[in-house]
Amino acid sequence: MLLSTVVPCYNEEDVLQETHRRLTQVLEQAMVGGSFEIVYVDDGSTDGTARVLGGLHEQDDRVRVVRLSRNFGHQLAATAGLDHASGDAVVLIDADLQDPPEAIPLLLAKWREGYDVVYGVRSDRAGETRFKLWTAKVFYRLVNRLSETPIPLDTGDFRLMDRKVVGALRSMPERDRFMRGMVSWVGFRQTAVPFRRAPRAAGESKYPLFKMLRFALDGVTSFSTVPLRLATWVGFAASAVALLGILYALAVRLFTQSWVSGWAALFVAVLFIGGVQLLALGVIGEYIGRIYGEAKHRPLYLVAERFGFSDRWPLHDAADAAPCVRNPRAER
Ligand code: UDP
Ligand code: MG
Repeated sequence: MLLSTVVPCYNEEDVLQETHRRLTQVLEQAMVGGSFEIVYVDDGSTDGTARVLGGLHEQDDRVRVVRLSRNFGHQLAATAGLDHASGDAVVLIDADLQDPPEAIPLLLAKWREGYDVVYGVRSDRAGETRFKLWTAKVFYRLVNRLSETPIPLDTGDFRLMDRKVVGALRSMPERDRFMRGMVSWVGFRQTAVPFRRAPRAAGESKYPLFKMLRFALDGVTSFSTVPLRLATWVGFAASAVALLGILYALAVRLFTQSWVSGWAALFVAVLFIGGVQLLALGVIGEYIGRIYGEAKHRPLYLVAERFGFSDRWPLHDAADAAPCVRNPRAER
């Protein structure tokens, strides 16, 4: 059997040599009697990543390199990697050694037991800021509350997937690729393996706060329409309050000698309802923007070059790069 390892890389020149060394060491031990390939996806890096990857490809014929035409973001880089992986099982792992390659044999063992998706659950995250830990926690809880597909808590993208799961993911054309949600949506037999998430080996995180917020928004909007329904609920609540107000004003007018006065109440109510309406419009706009993005049917990513594939397929485009569901019950 063939095991593919997909590694998205964005400006990772400092760490790639070490990543490759540790990956090959682990894979050589884990794959006696089988073979493996490592698919590095250069996500439009602006540093020496392309050069380092070129070097790795020269030294090692198990290295495949896909260079994207620009930076498309982690989730799309991972998608490109999955499209180019031809293994019976595919492991997705970060380039910065935060997901320890040494955990791959544990994932493989579960796969051999018959699981189709084995995802790593972070039992410990050394070297992350308190703020990142807290935001990550809130984020996972929020997405789960809102989404119809349960998404396992505290999992990143470090996971092993069977060929049929990769085939299923490849048949999902959506643009806002929230990979963890998508993998959970496909079903099949899934299980978790706890691992300790290490601090980044070198370089710095490519997920500043703003990008994280964007990612969180993708997570919510691509798996939930609850925000759309929120407007309806707020509308109901506001109508209920308004009805009470009307009854009160009428009662005062009819049964006492005075009447309700004051433009302050009016002013506040008008501003409040105006604010809620704009907010609801914004939420609707967010979804319409996504529909617009999907309607354009652009390719998810563009490949600038590939190394290490030519011996196997005459490549036309990414869709042809990997066969779809190959022998789903290949030997494990
Ligand atoms: N990455 C990528 N494209 C991007 C940002 C990140 O391919 O636009 C890769 C990056 O090289 C790394 C992985 O995605 O292998 C995770 O990124 P990072 O470590 O910066 O995220 P964090 O671990 O801080 O959440
Ligand atoms: Mg990282």
